[in-house]
Amino acid sequence: MDMQTSFLDRLFDSGLLIETGVDGLYGRSGQFEDVIAAFERLIDRFGGADGAEAIRFPPGMNRAFFEKSGYMKSFPQLAGTVHSFCGSELDHMSLLKCMEIGDDSWAKGQEATDIVLTPAACYPLYPTVAKRGPLPAGGVLYDLQSYCFRHEPSKDPARQQLFRMREYVCMGTQENVTDFRQSWMDRGVQLMAEVELPVEIDVANDPFFGRAGKMLANNQRDQNLKFELLIPITSTANPTACMSFNYHQDAFGTKWGLELEDGSVAHTACVGFGLERIALALFHHHGLDVALWPAKVRKALWG
Ligand code: ATP
Ligand code: ZN
Repeated sequence: MDMQTSFLDRLFDSGLLIETGVDGLYGRSGQFEDVIAAFERLIDRFGGADGAEAIRFPPGMNRAFFEKSGYMKSFPQLAGTVHSFCGSELDHMSLLKCMEIGDDSWAKGQEATDIVLTPAACYPLYPTVAKRGPLPAGGVLYDLQSYCFRHEPSKDPARQQLFRMREYVCMGTQENVTDFRQSWMDRGVQLMAEVELPVEIDVANDPFFGRAGKMLANNQRDQNLKFELLIPITSTANPTACMSFNYHQDAFGTKWGLELEDGSVAHTACVGFGLERIALALFHHHGLDVALWPAKVRKALWG
């Protein structure tokens, strides 16, 4: 049995994750949630004094904003859309007939609603901030957390289809946002040291779709636009990205019309924590029983 499956089985056996019959879609135990809550308090200890505005969006976003974001250009394979039944009574009868005989085509009649599943916690933020008008001098900082959906079913417990991302997003001048990103790369390393997790930081790229996507990915790497903080979870050879540090240059500023007071286009950067991945890294390195975790780790998480 490979390391991914055996870790997943141990998580099911211990009750930390709860099987649903779909790869990458799991219930979480109270204990698992308590670890995430404690880790989020640790994040607050590092970032709380920065004065970020906290906003919590639900795990679905406005489809019009999603369309404008360009997500379907770059990552069509990962997106999830919300479809509903909008038909007549006759349509309803044929739907039920299809379902009765186990014919999957019942879903073909479902129609797109105004909602799509949020692919990354920061996606609903940009149009929201753009509506508020020019950014104040010094830039702005937001604190977000959301369940995110990505259609990437896997037996690797660290690759889920619905998972939470905690994010800080900075908008301002190039200097504002690159300083912000660098400070979180330093903090990320310190934070993981407090909970005794081994990390390495490396340049990275997003999984852009198709042949044209290869070029976008190379470009992103060459320009150091994305870094990841990696922790071994189900493989030591391929450690898992538990945080990412993204500099979008003025791409989102241009797309959404985010302006500075002097009328120039804002630069943006975001820092994301993969909360399930971090919890799984803690369980992998310190054991499935939190009572047996090293005293220093328990103190960092629960005081
Ligand atoms: P990967 O290369 O591992 O697929 P990513 O580049 O897609 O990661 P981002 O888009 O930067 O990741 O997402 C921000 C953070 O969200 C990641 O650093 C990771 O911790 C977490 N994350 C991303 N995809 C998943 C997933 N499928 N399951 C759990 N956590 C995830
Ligand atoms: Zn990914």
